[in-house]
Amino acid sequence: MESEMRPLYEKQLQKEAVVDVAVVGAGAAGLCAAIWAGKKVEGHSIQIAVLDSARKLGAKILVAGGGRCNVTHCQVTEHDFAGSSPAAIRKILRRFSVEQTVQFFADAGVKLKQEETGKLFPVSDSARTVLKALLDQAQSVGVSITHPARVTDIDQLPCNALAKGRDKQPRLRVVSEDGVLLARHVIVCTGGKSLPKSGSDGSGYRLVEKLGHTISKPLVPALVPLTLADGHWIRGLSGLTVPAAVTLSKASGKRICTYSGSTLCTHLGLSGPSILDMSRHWLIERNADSNVCLNINWMPEHSEKSLDDLLQEHRMSAFGVLRRWLPDRLARQLCIESGAPDAGDLTRSIRKKLVQSVTATPLPVQGDRGFAVAEATAGGVPLEEIQLETMESRKCPGLYLAGEVLDVDGRIGGFNFQWAWSSGFVAGSAVAKSVTVGNN
Ligand SMILES: Cc1cc2nc3c(=O)[nH]c(=O)nc-3n(C[C@H](O)[C@H](O)[C@H](O)COP(=O)(O)OP(=O)(O)OC[C@H]3O[C@@H](n4cnc5c(N)ncnc54)[C@H](O)[C@@H]3O)c2cc1C
Repeated sequence: MESEMRPLYEKQLQKEAVVDVAVVGAGAAGLCAAIWAGKKVEGHSIQIAVLDSARKLGAKILVAGGGRCNVTHCQVTEHDFAGSSPAAIRKILRRFSVEQTVQFFADAGVKLKQEETGKLFPVSDSARTVLKALLDQAQSVGVSITHPARVTDIDQLPCNALAKGRDKQPRLRVVSEDGVLLARHVIVCTGGKSLPKSGSDGSGYRLVEKLGHTISKPLVPALVPLTLADGHWIRGLSGLTVPAAVTLSKASGKRICTYSGSTLCTHLGLSGPSILDMSRHWLIERNADSNVCLNINWMPEHSEKSLDDLLQEHRMSAFGVLRRWLPDRLARQLCIESGAPDAGDLTRSIRKKLVQSVTATPLPVQGDRGFAVAEATAGGVPLEEIQLETMESRKCPGLYLAGEVLDVDGRIGGFNFQWAWSSGFVAGSAVAKSVTVGNN
């Protein structure tokens, strides 16, 4: 009796059940896939069961965007992502665009607003409205969600090619701590390894590796703050935020990439959008070549030459010049680091040193804050192992993948959720088509 009164998304799994579609993971991608599978089969009676290991659903949606949930960005292209090939990423993003995402949420009762940065948030400024809308949508299309139910194994069932109705037979067995599901279609949306306490602990990689997939290595935190050595002067500026540009280069000086934007000095090193966007590149490049260097331009509107001219033009102390553009604390520290005197002219060599400090302070990064703090994961199942029209695995028929479990990670600004919505849509729609047309 008690279980009948619980909301559908807290249902308990029967110990062994046959369903049309099993979805592993009820995060952004899993909910979106289940909802679209349900929406697209309207008129057909199919069972869609979602399993999630978490005690509380949607932890990552709730913490996203500082509790406001940055649902997407006004402009999303394949160049906002890294990991798999841009052409493959574009193909999936195009199937479910930002406009469709905005419409989807509006239909679900969540109006989105665009901020100056181009980020889109719910007008309520509350991530709860986003999660509630997704759960309500799932319920309204008949999706059942069981949790906590950690999936420990997925295996392929033997296929009897001669059996009658074989195109409807379950192909996969999903073993969870709460029972077993037999399903013809299984969508794995287990996320990556970031914020493991939310339930995304990387166990999904093991599930799909067993079914023949590879995980592109190295698997590293993305969108993660970087740490500097104890005692580094930047750590002493904790709390200071400036617009800056960080550049990653080979030891030869060849530039690999640059990210600009708000940069935050922390008690452990650096954070803020420019550093978060850079982090996955630094970690991956450093893994391949320990000689790569990262440096920061504190006045990105200036080149070495233009700053040098500026320092020569102004008849005031170096600190007096720098503080026109930079916070006092930072201007003072840059002068100290390069030995610039408090008053009087600069010698040529000190001026050169100061220019170098301002436009290219080397960042001796020690490490990163790890998956516990990272917002995403770099690495995962490569898109080459997926059929892009459907998100079905090329390794295991009936298995589909969507979201962060794939080797796609976006920069900061709502791109990772857009990836979850788009890939979830493609997987859910494909499964619905397959179930209703019965061609698979
Ligand atoms: C602090 C923080 C803030 C963020 N803010 C933003 C933001 O504002 N905008 C943005 O675009 N992105 C943001 N992100 C990134 C974004 O949250 C993720 O990219 C996105 O949630 C990935 O969705 P997903 O469904 O693929 O995976 P997840 O959201 O990680 O969901 C995976 C689900 O699978 C379940 N699961 C895992 N393994 C199993 C298993 N073996 N059995 C059963 N269930 C399992 C987990 O419990 C989880 O519920 C943020 C991330 C963090 C950590």
